[in-house]
Amino acid sequence: MQTISPRVACPVERVTVRAYRIPTEGPESDGTLEWDATTMTYVEVAAAGEVGIGYTYGDAACATLVRSTLASVLEGKDALQTAALHGTLAAKVRNDGITGIASMAISAVDVALWDLKGKILRAPVCTLLGTARERVPLYGSGGFTSYAPGQLLEHMTAWVHESGIPRVKMKIGRDPEADPKRVASVRRAIGRDAELYVDANGACSVKQALSLAERFACEDVSWFEEPVYHRDLAGNAAVARSAPSSMEISNGEYGYALDEFASMLDAGAADVLQADVTRCGGITGFMAVDALCDARSVPLSSHCAPAATLHAAAAAKRLRHVEYFFDHVRIERMFFDGAPEPDGGAAACDTTRPGIGLELKRQDAERYAL
Ligand SMILES: [Mg+2]
Repeated sequence: MQTISPRVACPVERVTVRAYRIPTEGPESDGTLEWDATTMTYVEVAAAGEVGIGYTYGDAACATLVRSTLASVLEGKDALQTAALHGTLAAKVRNDGITGIASMAISAVDVALWDLKGKILRAPVCTLLGTARERVPLYGSGGFTSYAPGQLLEHMTAWVHESGIPRVKMKIGRDPEADPKRVASVRRAIGRDAELYVDANGACSVKQALSLAERFACEDVSWFEEPVYHRDLAGNAAVARSAPSSMEISNGEYGYALDEFASMLDAGAADVLQADVTRCGGITGFMAVDALCDARSVPLSSHCAPAATLHAAAAAKRLRHVEYFFDHVRIERMFFDGAPEPDGGAAACDTTRPGIGLELKRQDAERYAL
């Protein structure tokens, strides 16, 4: 019997990777971490005369893994078969662990493969996925615990009054005693009409979070993100059950594999599920999380990396909004032509550009190369 080998329409010719370290404007912190720089692993995948780009924000170990393990798996395979490649990459890292660094590395590659597919097929990724909305709502995110009071207010009001984004999120949890006053001052500064969110990055105990939630509710805080340690699903669920009904509990930024997101929903640990395209398996992974949210009737909000996320967000049925995170907005403006710009609290995919619509400003990025 004659065997027919599958036709490789667009064999992957080359995978290249760079890591960049970009200092922040100044020292920054949230409830549980302090940092002064952001590391980006940037991936290019070439096939059929086109080059797709993707990236993740993670340790340079992501770049090492792409170089040492993932690149050779892709070479010669059909670049258009994003689902098959996603499975092949996941299988390859079995012994390294599918979460964490490995998932971030796969995410960067997957975003590059979707960008490449769009470029080869001359279509924007949102069109390939099936657009659900033309304008993607954003929320401004930053409000670091390292900011002095005046700096905090300047930063938070800029999202609302200068960028025209009527939803903002600030960090809390480093000094919980001081947080009600910080939150009240931000509420006064942004006005009553803007939505105000807080993110503890897992800094609180359950009782502490519930006590803060009561006080934040007086300031119309409608979103309390990761009140307790993210792996404590029972603790997050306890906060979600007992927090004021006007306040949603959100979780999911450290979700990597799909079953982790299912576990969060099973536990009741999130009223709104969050997912990060650069962690959860790229655009392929993000769309799977959206399907999970659809099955459970739960809203989905994307975490960080807005430029890598916008097209998937435009196609996600359950999307609430995209996090327009200060550090990443700054980096993506520096690094990419085509980074999204807010307009009336939303951003639109540029459908005149194929793929995810980004082009690396190579010279500008080079000074940050590791
Ligand atoms: Mg967060």
